[in-house]
Amino acid sequence: MKRAPFTEPILHVDMDSFFVEVERRDDPSLRDRPVAVGGTGDRGVVASASYEARANGVTSAMPMRYARRLCRDLVVVSAHHAKYRQASEDVFSIFRSFTPLVEGASIDEAFLDISGLRLHYEDPEQVGVEIRSRLRAETGLPGSVGVARNKFLAKLASETAKPDGLLKVAAGAEVEFLHPLPVTRLWGVGAATSAALERLGIATVGALASAPVETLRRHLGSTMGTMLYDLAWGKDERPVDPDGAAKSISVEQTYEQDLADRSLIEAELLRHCVKLSGRMRRVGKLGKVLAVKVRFADFETVHRRLTLADSTNTGRDMFRAGVALLADIDLDRRAVRLVGVGMTDLSDSTAPRQLTTHHEWENVADAVDQVHRRFGDQAVLPARLAATSESISERGVS
Ligand SMILES: [Mg+2]
Repeated sequence: MKRAPFTEPILHVDMDSFFVEVERRDDPSLRDRPVAVGGTGDRGVVASASYEARANGVTSAMPMRYARRLCRDLVVVSAHHAKYRQASEDVFSIFRSFTPLVEGASIDEAFLDISGLRLHYEDPEQVGVEIRSRLRAETGLPGSVGVARNKFLAKLASETAKPDGLLKVAAGAEVEFLHPLPVTRLWGVGAATSAALERLGIATVGALASAPVETLRRHLGSTMGTMLYDLAWGKDERPVDPDGAAKSISVEQTYEQDLADRSLIEAELLRHCVKLSGRMRRVGKLGKVLAVKVRFADFETVHRRLTLADSTNTGRDMFRAGVALLADIDLDRRAVRLVGVGMTDLSDSTAPRQLTTHHEWENVADAVDQVHRRFGDQAVLPARLAATSESISERGVS
């Protein structure tokens, strides 16, 4: 059965008061209190404010001195940027486990093009729900999701859904969502543009949409006038544009109970490679560089990467390389809480490539994929994994 493409294939995921939530995760005494992360000294500035602090008027980029005056019981926490970078990496790995088409907009926010997941989800909203619950479960952090036809609407939707929410702007209902909003919610409307619009008597997106485009061009300049008019009608053609470094696809899992045994860790690696292979086939990608990630119980994270002789998307190739990388990691002294595997240096699998002896295995892998599509992920497991899956589920970590 062929399904029509998603009418709302773009997600904007934005973590909620990111730095504050990372600090709260690590220090639960900060929960439910007004918190500002930033410089604590005399000249410090607020980098991130909790919603409790925002309710008292505290905003980011505000001098900390002023924030303390606005909010008497404000808890000020100094920033730990290395920690935020790690959390950002974890969050983006989750995004990339859904699609390689991830465009980072900042440390804690990205656009995702999920058109390629059509066969696996009835509605793009389900992908958003799953991403939010994985963010919670695997990073302990809340994120909001906007789902829409394009990037512009998806971003407005996630802003509207905040904090800790999800909003889909259904195709066809865009104007209804957009037109009551104030013009200041549109991209590119800063102080100067909003003053110019105010002089024209335009306060809402709806008013902007019903203004003659020529008037807008004359008063705002041709480029800005045209852009705002298009946005007011929900038009935005920009594709999700993954930047070079971000072109990767990965699978990882944090376990409820740490893995203390190398063979269990290898079995998890194999399971991830099979899943990764399926995802890469689904989006028609081959990868050239394989990366393995292991996080220990004490949160130290180790990365190893290997450039393969040939680009591949077979689970077997990836597992072989991954096991070689694991051999280089000391797994005997500490238990492992997370295992991940990813591929970078992606190319299209339809591109001409040298045929190797792998292609026989690819046929097998294709057959496995077909069975998965029909019967679900547990239907066919490589023999080695089938042998160990029982001990994994016994440990309650599957
Ligand atoms: Mg954010």
